[in-house]
Amino acid sequence: MPISLRPTARAATHLALGYSGSPLAFGKWLLVIAVIVLGLGLGMPDLQAASGLGLPRCKPQKALEFLKRPSFVRKGRLDGHGNDRALRFRVEHYGRIEGMPFAELNHEKAHAQAVTAHFFGLPISIHRAVEPALRCVERRIRASCRDSHERYKPHAIGGFREQNTYRGGEVSNHLFGIAIDIDPDKNPCCGCVDPWPTHPACQAVGKELFERTALPPCWVDSFERYGFYWLGRDPQLRDTMHFEFLGDPERVVSR
Ligand SMILES: [Zn+2]
Repeated sequence: MPISLRPTARAATHLALGYSGSPLAFGKWLLVIAVIVLGLGLGMPDLQAASGLGLPRCKPQKALEFLKRPSFVRKGRLDGHGNDRALRFRVEHYGRIEGMPFAELNHEKAHAQAVTAHFFGLPISIHRAVEPALRCVERRIRASCRDSHERYKPHAIGGFREQNTYRGGEVSNHLFGIAIDIDPDKNPCCGCVDPWPTHPACQAVGKELFERTALPPCWVDSFERYGFYWLGRDPQLRDTMHFEFLGDPERVVSR
C-alpha cells in the first residue's frame, strides 16, 4: 500500500533523498532504509537482540546469594541446612542426580537435559536452561573485552560431568551441567587437592586474585553480568578455571 504523506512532508523527504517519484516508489525507498538500519543493528548487541532474529534478549542478573558456595561452606565446614537449600533448588530447576539427595523432587534427570553448545568455537556439553546464558556471556566478551590486555583465547573447556568431585555432602555444579571450566592448565584451582596447589600461579603467598589466573577481569565481569559465579572468588578453593550459573534460570532471556 502506498504511504500517504502530506504533499509538503513528502516533498521535503524526497528532497533529502534527492529523489522524486510516485508514492509507491517512495515506499520502496523507505523499505531500503529500513533494511540498512537493520543491517547496522546487527553489529550492536542490544539492537541485535531487539530485532527478533532468533537471538536471545540477554537479561543481566546477579548470582543468587544462597547458591554461592561460601554461603554454605564456611572455613571448610559444611552448613547442612544451607547446603540442602541450595541442592534442593538445583534439583528442582535442573533435574535429579542418581544417588544424590532430593532426587524425588524431579522426575527428569539433569543429564537428560544436556545439549551441545559452543563457546568461542569449542564444543561443550551443558544444561539446556543455561545454554542461552553462555551465549550472552560470549556475545558480551566479544563486544567489550577488546583491548590487548582483555583478549583471551580458550583452548580447553569442560561442562557436564557425571562424577562428583566434592566429598562430604557437597554436589558439584558440573553434575547439573551449569558449570564451565576454562583452561585448567592456565587457570588453576589453588585450594583443590594435589597437584593443583603446586601450580606456579598458586605459589606466592598473598598473590592477588588475578595473578592466579590468565583470565582477564573483563571476562570474569562478563560471566558475572549474566548470573554466573566465579569460583575464583571462593576464599577456600580459589578455583579460577570454574564459572557456575547461579542465577534464576527463568530470567536468562526476555520472552
Ligand atoms: Zn569446575
